[in-house]
Amino acid sequence: MILKIIVLFGILAVVTARRSYQGYKVYEVHQNTREQADFLHEMEQSNENLDFWHLAKQLNGKAQVLVPPTEQRSFVADLMRQGFQFSVMIPDIENTIDDYSVPPASRKPVPVSKQILHNYLRYLDINEYIDELATKFPASVSVNQIGTSYEGRPLKTITINGNRNNSSVIFMDAGIHAREWIAPATALYVINQLVEHAHENTDILSNLTWVILPVVNPDGYEYSHEMERFWRKTRKPAGKCVGTDANRNFDFHWGEIGASSSACSDTYRGDAPFSEPESQAIRNALTKLKGQCKFYLSLHSYGNYLLYPWGYTSDLPDTWQDIDEVAQTGAAAIKRATGAEYTVGSSTNVLYAASGGSDDWAFAEADVPIAIVMELPGGGFGGFNPPASAIEKSVKESWLGIKAMALKVAQKY
Ligand SMILES: [Zn+2]
Repeated sequence: MILKIIVLFGILAVVTARRSYQGYKVYEVHQNTREQADFLHEMEQSNENLDFWHLAKQLNGKAQVLVPPTEQRSFVADLMRQGFQFSVMIPDIENTIDDYSVPPASRKPVPVSKQILHNYLRYLDINEYIDELATKFPASVSVNQIGTSYEGRPLKTITINGNRNNSSVIFMDAGIHAREWIAPATALYVINQLVEHAHENTDILSNLTWVILPVVNPDGYEYSHEMERFWRKTRKPAGKCVGTDANRNFDFHWGEIGASSSACSDTYRGDAPFSEPESQAIRNALTKLKGQCKFYLSLHSYGNYLLYPWGYTSDLPDTWQDIDEVAQTGAAAIKRATGAEYTVGSSTNVLYAASGGSDDWAFAEADVPIAIVMELPGGGFGGFNPPASAIEKSVKESWLGIKAMALKVAQKY
């Protein structure tokens, strides 16, 4: 009886603790004119209750917006006044996330490596996996702690070294935005391929060292699993709200554009550049690799984009064609393999200007010649919440693009 009460209590605690998205809808809004595109952009900037999952600059594109029940009437009225074509893409987002939180796999008998394609692994399992690889393959793999998150979680990189005398480094990270779960899942698959299938990848291991940080923002990642599925930021308190957008927190044109000064905003830039331990960790790691690191690849979701500097201005860096060549190679490899299309370009020109991003900083301040943000596919229901059954197809496809880009970088440097 007592046990039953405890179990019931536990279930109730979990149910009441997690934020419900009941009645939240995702709208898809067509932007057919420049005025409509500007209107949506203005809406995104001015209303913190609307969660713009996707907003591109190009005309004839579609924005995707998560709207809470309290905002739906006025949102729809605004759209109708402006003559937008729109539809409901997901009628009740809560129904798509019912069984989303898989408990840490370490409690189950299935080894982590067998779950990479089928589950969104938790932070502890991800670290357990990379630690295991370091033990199993000591000659080619090592794990380092490059920082500690606000809540005290070690930020661990795995270094994969085909040949210890090589000098060029690829630094890849994932999960700076907590809710983009497919990004750490993709990083894990890349790690799996580079280590456990090394013999199939000698072309991108023989003269490259890979340093991979699979979860940049573990506090936010865990929070998005346990409490609030669509959490994006870090978890350090900021005034009356919580969290900073670590990808607006880098010290390069910090806070100039597309980065909010409001602590409650999802794109809050932080109270100072590098205010977050998570962005500091990337800064410190890339600073140590200055001169060696030739390719910085940051995995995000979603929308099938390969983006490069600048994020703070529509101008292009002098060497943009070098980056474009690498990104185009990745897009072509994916297109050839599966037919999936990626849009390639500078982030300001394809999306909207946003300063303080890690890619701008890596390129400008850490002297990394090729810096790319990969916005992975949405998959399944679309958006940030592809079902676990969509992981395998997505990560295998993305890996082909990442591999092709790495090969191009290996040829160039
Ligand atoms: Zn992102």
